[in-house]
Amino acid sequence: MIAIKDSTKKSMYENVMQQFNKTADAINLNPNIRKILSITNNEIILHFPVKMDNGEVKIFTGYRVQHNNALGPYKGGLRYHPTVDVEDAKALAMWMTWKTSLAGLPYGGAKGGIQIDPRDYSIGELERLTRRFTYALGDNIGPDYDIPAPDVNTNEQTMAWISDTYMLTKAPSERSNSLNVVTGKPIGSGGLQGRDRATGFGVFLTIKLLHQSRKESLKGKKFIVQGYGNVGYWTSHFLIKEGAILIAVQDAHATVYNENGIAVEDLFEHCKPRKGSISGFEGAVEIDPESFFGLECDILVPAALGNQITEENAFMVKAKIIAEGANGPIDVEGEKILLENGITIIPDILCNSGGVIGSYFEWLQNRNGELWELEEVMYKLEKKLSDVFKKVEGVVLEGKIDWRTAAYILAITRIEMAYVQRGVFP
Ligand code: GLU
Repeated sequence: MIAIKDSTKKSMYENVMQQFNKTADAINLNPNIRKILSITNNEIILHFPVKMDNGEVKIFTGYRVQHNNALGPYKGGLRYHPTVDVEDAKALAMWMTWKTSLAGLPYGGAKGGIQIDPRDYSIGELERLTRRFTYALGDNIGPDYDIPAPDVNTNEQTMAWISDTYMLTKAPSERSNSLNVVTGKPIGSGGLQGRDRATGFGVFLTIKLLHQSRKESLKGKKFIVQGYGNVGYWTSHFLIKEGAILIAVQDAHATVYNENGIAVEDLFEHCKPRKGSISGFEGAVEIDPESFFGLECDILVPAALGNQITEENAFMVKAKIIAEGANGPIDVEGEKILLENGITIIPDILCNSGGVIGSYFEWLQNRNGELWELEEVMYKLEKKLSDVFKKVEGVVLEGKIDWRTAAYILAITRIEMAYVQRGVFP
C-alpha cells in the first residue's frame, strides 16, 4: 500500500507562488523585483541515453532549474524520483532561493533531478545514469556557478560520481577546484564531517529552540515522522537523545506504530538492506496509513515529499508543532487550517536549512583547502542556525505573525536589498 502521497495532486509551484505573493503583499515588495522573483532564470531539460545492464539503451529525462542568483551561485539538491518535472523543480528551486537568503549564505537557489524510481535500477545503472546526466549538464553547473547537493533518493555516492565526472571532463588545468562542483560528497572525496547529519540536526535544533523559548523540555514529548531517509532518521536520532519518544513512522510502503517508543537505530538498521523501507519492522505494529497524521502526539515531522498535509487531512493533526524536514510538505489551504487550530509550523526554509548551511561549510572547506573537525562543524552549524532562528522569532513576536511569513519577510527583504543596491542591467 502506498502511504506517502505523490506530490502531484496540486502543483508545488502554485503553493510556493501563493506563499511568495502573500509576503510580497505584506512587505509591499517593489513591483519590479516582484516580477523578477516570480520567474525562474533558467529551466534546463535534458534527454540523454544510458546503456542498461541487459544491453538495451534507454532515454532518460533530467532537469535543472535555476531560480535566482542575485546573492551568489545557484545552490540546491538533485532528486531522483518519478515525480520530478519542471514544475516541481521550479517550486523547489524557489524554496532554495528563500532558504539560502534567510540563512544569510552567499547563494541563490536551484533544484533538479532525474525522473526515475532509483529502486528500478542496479548500482551500475545508477552510476551510468548519474555520470551521463552530469555530462549532459556540462557547464550549466560549476563550483562558482551552480552547486548541486543530495536530495530525495540521492546521497554521497551520487555526489562522488558527479564530482568525478565533472572533474574528468574538464581540461587538466581547470581541474583543481572542480571537486567542489557538488556538496554532500563522501569524506574521503572532499566531503565535510557532519554533512550527513546536518539537515536532521537542524530540524532537531529548531524544535529544541522553540521548546526552550516556551520554557518546555523535550523529555517525554511524543513525535511522529513521515519519511525515514537521511532527514527523518537523523532528526529522530537527535530528538530521542533529549528524551523525546518516536511513536510512529510512515514511508512510501508502510506506517508503523509503537506507543512505548520505536528504537530509532534499530529501525535505521532494518531499512538498510531493504532499499530504505521500514516495512516489516518488528519493533512496532503496522497501522492504517490514513490514520498517521491524526495520531496523538506533540510534534509532527514531515520529512518526505511535498503537499502531504492539505485541506483533506490538516484538520486531523493533533500535534502542537510541525517541523518541516521536507520541502513544501504543507500546502496553503492545509496551513490555514493548521494555523486556525493553533499549531505552530516551523517552515522548511528555516527548519531544514541545516543541510544547505552544512553544504556552505563544505564548499568553504574545499575552497580553502582545509579539513574541518566534526566538533567544529557542529558548533558552527548550531551557532549559525540558532542566530537565524532568533531572527525569525524576533519577527514572529514583533509582527504577531506565523513563522513562515516571518521567515519569508526576512528572506525576500535581503534579496530586494541586493536588487535595490545594484539595479537591473543594462
Ligand atoms: N537538498 C537540500 C535542501 O533541500 C540541500 C541543498 C544543498 O545543500 O544545496 O535544502
